[in-house]
Amino acid sequence: MWNHEYFQELAALAAVGQVSGPEVKALDDHIEKCASCRSAHTDFAGIVQAELPVLADRRDRVSRLRALLGADRGYRRRFIERARAGGIRFSPEVDRKLTRPTASLAAFVPVRAALLVLASLLIVISAWMYRSKVRTRPVMPAEVALQREVARLAASNTELQSRVAKMAESEALKTAEIRQLESERTAGREQVVALRDRLERAEEEQLALEAQLRSAKAQAAESDSRSQESGRLAAELKNELDSVRARQSASEASLATQQAHTRELSEKLAAQTVLIDRERELLASGREIRDLMGARNLHIIDVFDVDGTGKSAKAFGRVFYTEGKSLIFYAFDLTSRRHPRADHAFQAWGYRDPAPQSARSLGIFYADDKTQNRWVLKFDDPQVLAEIDSVYVTVEPPGGSPKPTGQKLLYAYLNGQPNHP
Ligand SMILES: [Zn+2]
Repeated sequence: MWNHEYFQELAALAAVGQVSGPEVKALDDHIEKCASCRSAHTDFAGIVQAELPVLADRRDRVSRLRALLGADRGYRRRFIERARAGGIRFSPEVDRKLTRPTASLAAFVPVRAALLVLASLLIVISAWMYRSKVRTRPVMPAEVALQREVARLAASNTELQSRVAKMAESEALKTAEIRQLESERTAGREQVVALRDRLERAEEEQLALEAQLRSAKAQAAESDSRSQESGRLAAELKNELDSVRARQSASEASLATQQAHTRELSEKLAAQTVLIDRERELLASGREIRDLMGARNLHIIDVFDVDGTGKSAKAFGRVFYTEGKSLIFYAFDLTSRRHPRADHAFQAWGYRDPAPQSARSLGIFYADDKTQNRWVLKFDDPQVLAEIDSVYVTVEPPGGSPKPTGQKLLYAYLNGQPNHP
């Protein structure tokens, strides 16, 4: 409500006691709150105390000044007017107070003291004016500068606030990013843990598989060696089998040979048996014949079959010949060997070497013992016997032939040494 200029005027007036009670209270209230006016008030008081000579003791100085100034309106009015003439402007309240009726005036004031008060007032006013000039001049440019500074600071503040807002926004974004990254890091750690688990399991599986592989390799090696052993055994068995087969073949061949040999031996045995039987019979016959013919001049001649080459074969018959007397010719198996047919005759012929064309018939064989296939011929013409030295047999038609026509079967030379026992 009150401007500072008014209160500084009041302060100047108060320094010399030219204010009323309410004014003093208003001034006190204001300078309690306003440092500038309080400073001015202190300055004025200092001036009054330093410049004014001591009129009396301090106890009554103010009251006496107040009494001096307040007792006569004329002093106040003249002070104001003179100050105005000096260029000092006063507020309208000061004028109003000039018309206000004052309290009852005090008593006696010496003129010299009043003059001193007036002089001190002038000094105070001059100082106040100087002070006002000094203050007001730099205040305005300073205010402008301050306003500019304030504006600049406000702009800067706005910019800083905007920066702060941006930084807050950026920080919020970064916080969100950090949160995201942390959650990703957590997920990554979990993945790492899971992957480690899987890796451990995979390593365990690998170890197990390697063990299996080693076992399988060992088994394969064992199986391989077994297989080689089996192959060796199989080869040995095959060799043995081949050997056995070869031996068996040899045995079979040998058996066949043995069987053939056995058959041959059996046949030989049978033939020998037959021969032995015949020998026995012929021996018996020979005894008879020897008994009949006497032992002298008896030739017992083995008769041989004659094959196609003219060579003699095994014994086939026997001739009992007594010189110049008789001839008995036994022959065996005439029909069973080469001449199985029955519609022919076996005829014996005698001759003397080397004229076989002059052969003379000795007769036809007859079957002496058909079960043993034994044939016999008996001839006892001494003249004919005297003219021959050899005999043989041919196959002729039934009834015989006047000359030999068939193949020669048996041949015997008669004129050897007598060989009877
Ligand atoms: Zn003030």
